[in-house]
Amino acid sequence: MKTIALVTGANKGIGFEIARQLGELGITVIVGARDEKLGRAAAEELGQAFVQLDVTDPDSIKKAATWIDLAYGKLDILVNNAGITVSHEEGKPSTTSLETMRRIYETNVFGVVAVTNALLPVLRKAPAARIVNQSSEMGSMEHALNENHPAFPIVNLPYNSSKTALNMITVAYAKELWDTPIKVNAVDPGWCRTDITGGEGYKSAAQGAAIAVKLATLGADGPTATFSQDQGTLPW
Ligand code: NAP
Repeated sequence: MKTIALVTGANKGIGFEIARQLGELGITVIVGARDEKLGRAAAEELGQAFVQLDVTDPDSIKKAATWIDLAYGKLDILVNNAGITVSHEEGKPSTTSLETMRRIYETNVFGVVAVTNALLPVLRKAPAARIVNQSSEMGSMEHALNENHPAFPIVNLPYNSSKTALNMITVAYAKELWDTPIKVNAVDPGWCRTDITGGEGYKSAAQGAAIAVKLATLGADGPTATFSQDQGTLPW
C-alpha cells in the first residue's frame, strides 16, 4: 500500500524540497499550497498531486481534508511546514502590533492546530502516521537566553514566540497520541536560503528539508515529542 504524505506550504522553499525528497523515497506526496496556480505548477514539476490549502482558511482546510479522505482513504505523513515571519524591526517587542501578532499566529500557530485537527481522522486511518511540525531554533527558550548563542540578539516577538508555541503544540499532540502509533515531532531546518530569509542562510532549502524528511519517515522505534535539527536534539 502506498504511503501518502501532505506537505503544507509546498509550492516553494523548504516545503517544496520536503515534497521532492519524500517523492524520491517512493512516497505519494500531496503538495499543499494556498495559491492554486503556484501549487499546481510545483506539483506538476514533482509529478505529484496538488491540494489547495490555506492554513488560515477553515473552508479550504475542510475541503482539503475531505478530498484526501475520498482520494486516498488515509494519510501517513503530515508536514506542517507553512510559515510566515516579519522583519526584526516589525517584530520588536515594545513596538510590534497586536495585528502583527495575530497575523503571524494565524499561520504559524492556529493554522497548525486547525490543519492537524482536520486531518487527524484520516491520519488515524493510516497504520502509523507521522506528524512533523516545522519549528525553528528561534523558538528555543534555552537558546534565546544563552548569551553565547547566535540567536541571542534576535528578539522577534511574533515569530520567535509563535515557534515556541508550536513546540508546546507538538508536545501536547504527542502526549494525547502517546498510546497510539502516531508520532509527533518538531524540527528546525537551520538557516536556509529561501524567501522567508530574503535568500540569506548557510544552507540550501534542500539541505534544510532533510531533517523533516527524517522525522516524517521514522520507524516504529522512533521517538515522539522531540525537537531536533541535523546536528541532533535541540533544547526546548
Ligand atoms: P518560504 O520560502 O517563504 O516558504 C513559506 C511557504 O509557506 C510558502 O509556500 C508559502 O506560500 C507558505 N504559506 C505561507 N502562509 C500560508 C498559508 N496561510 N497557507 C498555506 N501556505 C502558506 O520559507 P521557508 O524557509 O521555506 O519556510 C518554511 C518553514 O520553515 C516555515 O514554517 C519557516 O518558519 C520555517 N523555517 C525556515 C527557516 C529558514 O531559515 N528558511 C528557519 C527555521 C524555520 P506562498 O508562496 O503562497 O506565500
